Amino acid sequence: MGLLVVGSLGLDDVTTPFYKTENALGGAATYISIAASYFTSPIYLVGVVGEDFPKEYIDLLEKKNIDLEGLQIIEGGKTFRWAGKYHYDLNVRDTLLTELNVFENFDPVVPEKYKKSSYVCLGNIDPVLQMKVLVQMIDPKCVVCDTMNYWIERQKNELLELLKKVDILIINDSETRLLANEPNLIKAAKHILDFGPEIIIIKKGEHGALLISRDTIFSAPAYPLESIYDPTGAGDTFAGGFIGYLHKTQDLNIDNIKRAVIYGSTMASFCVEQFSTKGLEEIDYLRVNDRYREFLNLSKCNEL
Ligand code: AMP
Repeated sequence: MGLLVVGSLGLDDVTTPFYKTENALGGAATYISIAASYFTSPIYLVGVVGEDFPKEYIDLLEKKNIDLEGLQIIEGGKTFRWAGKYHYDLNVRDTLLTELNVFENFDPVVPEKYKKSSYVCLGNIDPVLQMKVLVQMIDPKCVVCDTMNYWIERQKNELLELLKKVDILIINDSETRLLANEPNLIKAAKHILDFGPEIIIIKKGEHGALLISRDTIFSAPAYPLESIYDPTGAGDTFAGGFIGYLHKTQDLNIDNIKRAVIYGSTMASFCVEQFSTKGLEEIDYLRVNDRYREFLNLSKCNEL
């Protein structure tokens, strides 16, 4: 049974202190499904783009064996657009523009063959749309959800409704504080567990990731890279590597979930080395595994 991914697909304009791109391939579902494609198949994509979405981007998704039956292409419609600017400290980003465009009237239809997918990744998009997809699924084994400040600020009640049905929530540190209305990350995460998820994974950019459940706290470092060009999509790529590995192994034991966190971080490290999805396009599973092993060694030391 497959891995279902829903979320934004879009065109991004990104400015960093080093470079500027326009109309780059972006969107949460894009990064998630490309990252997951290194681990597993089939990947079933649900989303929407406009007529202006370049054919080469569709070709890339197809090349990664992502099933596009659930991707609607709206004639005359305009694709989701986002623009962001990074500060010299690449952990800090300003959103300059968010245009929902075809997502505003999107009515997601989950194709019949997608409905029994055992793993579902609700990538960043309006929680109302995430819910519309989730209710069409038949008894998924694991539901992972990502969201961001944009939706926490605008659709908090809808998001809280959705979280009742989510097993694992992936968000970044500032979003964790915002969602829980609590400055301390651990307290905030525990508060969010009361909303429904069994596990929260907090992404902390170059400071790694923190997994928190009722009885576990697990901290993973970020891969120490000397050249970070574009952090866009790192969080989504993390989610894709994470759920791709879980789907491949079909094992939801906490130790395996911790391994999935390291695989998620591994994929995110490839993403930030280049612009847009470029860093994810030309790797292979061997390189992924080599870096995964380096990751394991990062915080290994001998016991006394
Ligand atoms: P990340 O850097 O992981 O937070 O993800 C960046 C990607 O998220 C970009 O490629 C954007 O196209 C997409 N994105 C930005 N804002 C939103 C939003 N409000 N809803 C859905 N996707 C978004």
